[in-house]
Amino acid sequence: MSEKIKMTTPLVEMDGDEMTRIIWKMIKDILITPYVDLKTDYYDLGLVHRNETNDQVTIDSAEATKKYGVAVKCATITPNAQRMTEYDLKEMWKSPNGTIRAILDGTVFRAPIIVKGITPLLPTWTKPITIARHAYGDVYKNTEMQVAEGSKCELVCTDQEGNETRSLIYDFKDSAGVIQGLHNKDNSIRSFAKACFNFALDTKQDLWFATKDTISKKYDHRFKDIFAEIYEAEYKEKFEAAGIEYFYTLIDDAVARVVRSNGGYIWACKNYDGDVMSDMVATAFGSLGMMTSVLVSPDGVYEYEAAHGTVTRHYYKHLKGEETSTNSVATIFAWSGALKKRGELDGNKELSEYAEKLEKATIQTIEEGVMTGDLYVLSHLENKKKVNTEDFLLEINKRLSALMAG
Ligand code: NAP
Ligand code: MG
Repeated sequence: MSEKIKMTTPLVEMDGDEMTRIIWKMIKDILITPYVDLKTDYYDLGLVHRNETNDQVTIDSAEATKKYGVAVKCATITPNAQRMTEYDLKEMWKSPNGTIRAILDGTVFRAPIIVKGITPLLPTWTKPITIARHAYGDVYKNTEMQVAEGSKCELVCTDQEGNETRSLIYDFKDSAGVIQGLHNKDNSIRSFAKACFNFALDTKQDLWFATKDTISKKYDHRFKDIFAEIYEAEYKEKFEAAGIEYFYTLIDDAVARVVRSNGGYIWACKNYDGDVMSDMVATAFGSLGMMTSVLVSPDGVYEYEAAHGTVTRHYYKHLKGEETSTNSVATIFAWSGALKKRGELDGNKELSEYAEKLEKATIQTIEEGVMTGDLYVLSHLENKKKVNTEDFLLEINKRLSALMAG
């Protein structure tokens, strides 16, 4: 075999937990290190090590990502009460994804990997729909109250000089009820808009954005205006040159258009819309094991991962020595996405081409009928065959080595 592909800049590698940690090592051993002289800045984000370092390792890995520009992350456990005892934790450490996102000020883009033989529940969706969720504010940072009959509720804002502005929410004369206070910040909306425009240019896809600005004439309208201002000032010419479009509409109109569409665009969503729509889109496209996720910061730092979790149920089977058939595709695409971006930033064509071939070999394997159990139940290929976790990777490698040789 010919010489391994060299890397000039390291990739930040964030290891993780359970079944995905097992898959992580297999992917590196079977599909990457035989071809690439892999250079990574390694951080072990497995829960044991997060606990040992009082979660400092998560912060360090995010700082390293800022420094090097590209990271690849394995799925990690977000501790809950049951994990406190299972891992004998000092504290209920926060979600690593939340910590990393806060440090990088990033937006998450989720996109399905499409293969022949598996038809989305909406068969018109022949191209991926990428959802970008604004992960700050609105109902996720709200203040709410249950109020008694006879209460008069107002919105009060006190400015720096102490001046008060009041606005009536509702006078509860004839019934008790509920009220809610929401906020968002211009700088967060701007970061979100920029990440979306940049990612659209990056992937050469149209960008859609929708709110309910006809009803919410100040709150939602602010989102619409910020997107429009940034687009006009910084992105219009670049979009025209790239032959892509920025399209704004009302959220209900967007939903109707999405259902009728063939896919192939990025759909930027406000926080709540993104929460709801990403689950709908993921379900309609098939398996969680085929959903990728990338965190993009407004200054162009990228962190790639699978959208699914650590697949705990499969891990417990694996520990008992039982055979598993866990889908590694989203994790493979996290690696290929990161290596492709590393190659692009470093002008390392060989590395980017290898990453392309890795993706091609993965898709080819499934399209030739070799797949894990989650896809086996969805595929309508006649010659389909279910394989175990490791055999699936070995099958991909057969095709990858042929592509690398040819
Ligand atoms: P999950 O790990 O995504 O798994 C839920 C179920 O979806 C699995 O039991 C499995 O169904 C199916 N599935 C998911 N990924 C699959 C794959 N690659 N191949 C085959 N089937 C797959 O979600 P969870 O069980 O709710 O969470 C487990 C742990 O992951 C939790 O500790 C959570 O905190 C963590 N988590 C981490 C991240 C992240 O790091 N980004 C995201 C979400 C959750 P069957 O059992 O029916 O086969
Ligand atoms: Mg959700």
